[in-house]
Amino acid sequence: MSGRDCDIAIIGGGLSGGLIALALTRHRPELAIRLIEAGPEPGGNHRWSWFASDLSPRGSALMEGFHKAAWDEGYDIRFPAHERTLGTPYRSLASTDFAARLERDLPEGSILVNAPVAALDEAGVDLEDGRRITARCVIDCRGFAPTGHLEGGWQVFMGRHLRTPAPHGITRPTIMDASVEQHAPYGNSGAYRFVYVLPLGERDLFIEDTYYADKPDLDRSMLSARIDQYQRKNGWEGETVGLETGVLPVITGGDFAAYQSQCRIPGVATAGARGGFVHPLTSYTLPMAVDLALAIAADADLPGDRMAAKVEALARQHWKRMGHYRMLGTMLFCGARPRERYRVFERFYRLSERLIERFYTGRSTLLDKARVLTGKPPIPITRGIGALMSSAPPLQAPSRKDQT
Ligand SMILES: Cc1cc2nc3c(=O)[nH]c(=O)nc-3n(C[C@H](O)[C@H](O)[C@H](O)COP(=O)(O)OP(=O)(O)OC[C@H]3O[C@@H](n4cnc5c(N)ncnc54)[C@H](O)[C@@H]3O)c2cc1C
Repeated sequence: MSGRDCDIAIIGGGLSGGLIALALTRHRPELAIRLIEAGPEPGGNHRWSWFASDLSPRGSALMEGFHKAAWDEGYDIRFPAHERTLGTPYRSLASTDFAARLERDLPEGSILVNAPVAALDEAGVDLEDGRRITARCVIDCRGFAPTGHLEGGWQVFMGRHLRTPAPHGITRPTIMDASVEQHAPYGNSGAYRFVYVLPLGERDLFIEDTYYADKPDLDRSMLSARIDQYQRKNGWEGETVGLETGVLPVITGGDFAAYQSQCRIPGVATAGARGGFVHPLTSYTLPMAVDLALAIAADADLPGDRMAAKVEALARQHWKRMGHYRMLGTMLFCGARPRERYRVFERFYRLSERLIERFYTGRSTLLDKARVLTGKPPIPITRGIGALMSSAPPLQAPSRKDQT
């Protein structure tokens, strides 16, 4: 370590930072790492879900040791004019289980919590409490940075963990129930709304009300009332044992080079959602965070400036590969009337199961892209073209007042 405190310092113990730390511990246990988190434990208050098909065999191996919910019999989707069960297995990990494994598997003393970082540079980090931690390589995983350089809309949601007094009898997740009324959340003229339901146990349900909305406003009491209404409709009663909210960017375009310059700290690698490793349309990051963690662990001897250059280059490649999904997002937000946005997904879910899997993992083939865009369009062609020629609002900071 040549007199430094550690080999690799990772700032932000969220999904990406935690997975990088885990991959390094598994593949390069001799390296000294520090995972530095502002909050009281890694992971925050989240539930991360993914399709088994999102991950490579090495990625699945990295996720293997987490205690998580798994559904091998697939999932349902529901739209006004189309219902279907798809066979792809689904997984879901609670942040408490994420934190428990990091605490168990990372070497003692490598996780620092309640340790907000005030500044970082190529040689280390300065904590708000005045301590400095020096490192050969510094990786910034502090989460998405709101920006005027990227544009799009927002995914706004609230999820409730309900414990029912008796078994609820649900065996498969419902990934999208868009047969619900297409209400808009507070402050928006309209949105694509769906409810997401995970049967976490025989008496545990996770019910999430989600909106593809133009504005990042989140009204907790209204979302809570809509979950109540959905529960009543399904006859589900019980005690609320957990709650999460999210306001996630849906990126439809922008100047990625300018965004990278905004986030760049010379010699520091920018990873996770902050680095741009996100599916622009679903806002999911888990498959990308797993791949990036393995890529960093495979080159863990690089000096900080070379690691920063490597991660930036991977982010640029990722941005290029995601162009198709940004275009679909543009059609969703700018082409479809808010109350008709669901039609874009309704039509998509009539396509083949493998195509849908590749869409979620961000690996659509040329043929997949053609299939998504051909056939009877879900929105009028003139509006679709108009949408592609227009631009969406910048992804500036959501109002924090209502978020957990
Ligand atoms: C409620 C919710 C549910 C989601 N569900 C899914 C899902 O099911 N599947 C999926 O793929 N994606 C999901 N996402 C989207 C995305 O995967 C997550 O946002 C993911 O956590 C992003 O990972 P990250 O590591 O980049 O950022 P984060 O997980 O947000 O981690 C950033 C970390 O940095 C810390 N930090 C920030 N500033 C400092 C500082 N100055 N010093 C020290 N630490 C700092 C924060 O406290 C935080 O822990 C969800 C997001 C939310 C909010």
